[in-house]
Amino acid sequence: MFSFRTLLSHGAAAFLTCAVMPSVAAAQDGQTPPYREIWNAGGVTVIAIQDVYRQMPASIFKGAATEQERAPYFTGGKTEGGINVFVLRMGGKIALVDAGGGPQFQPPGKLPLALAALGIAPQDIDLVLITHAHSDHIGGLLTQEGKRAFPKARVLLAQPELDAWLTLAEKDPANAGAAMVKAVVAAYGADVQTFAFGAAVLPGVIALDAAGHTPGHTAFEVTAGGKSLLLVGDLIHAMPLQFALPDECAAYDMDMPKAIAARKRIFALAEHSQTPMSGVHFPFTHIVGTVKKDGKGWKFAP
Ligand SMILES: [Zn+2]
Repeated sequence: MFSFRTLLSHGAAAFLTCAVMPSVAAAQDGQTPPYREIWNAGGVTVIAIQDVYRQMPASIFKGAATEQERAPYFTGGKTEGGINVFVLRMGGKIALVDAGGGPQFQPPGKLPLALAALGIAPQDIDLVLITHAHSDHIGGLLTQEGKRAFPKARVLLAQPELDAWLTLAEKDPANAGAAMVKAVVAAYGADVQTFAFGAAVLPGVIALDAAGHTPGHTAFEVTAGGKSLLLVGDLIHAMPLQFALPDECAAYDMDMPKAIAARKRIFALAEHSQTPMSGVHFPFTHIVGTVKKDGKGWKFAP
């Protein structure tokens, strides 16, 4: 159905039109992280970049499932994951969805290396759409020195998200997550702007209410040329566990019942409209796919 392009770090591009997921592009310099085009329609291109590779431990998940029910979804108590950033190219503009972990993250985010390999300079980024303000999503907005990593970019996030973190920063100045949001606001000033759920944040890009993981957690639906793609932020922390058992939550979900409801609502929407999805913590081997109802949950098909 799709034409997947595997982008190699020195500009070579191999086109694959297939039902089988192409293998992840190996970074030729051993440093540049995997990246590849995952969607292309109506003049809009979406590229996924794996900013950080990591494995998710089974121990962070909570829910009704027993340890035995959860076990088959992990190998040695872990499952493959990562922190991804998306590049949207449309009409001569370049937007990011999230900014990755940044230089302070352990291990540090590799987004800048992938952008350089794509020929994108920090000043070329016009807009950064934020799914939510956890440090693995906004850390990359700042340099090591706490300055703007993207000198010309506006940063957009949901109003309830910004409000919640700034309120927390006042109540608990020692909270590291809230302090990072304050640092971003200090660095970007009036270029930090908010949106309401349901708003078009770019032509054809709608901010969908996915609140639960955080108060303003947002999924973005990109539509162009009659096709759509869902970028679902942190609806999924472990694949395939949370597709099969959507009531399972990562410990990071701030309001678990709301996070579960958002997960089910958006998966149902994706299945109904046959819209492919990608997410910030999807493993790069399964970076984009479709969902189909399967028993109590969904089955994800890359
Ligand atoms: Zn996250």
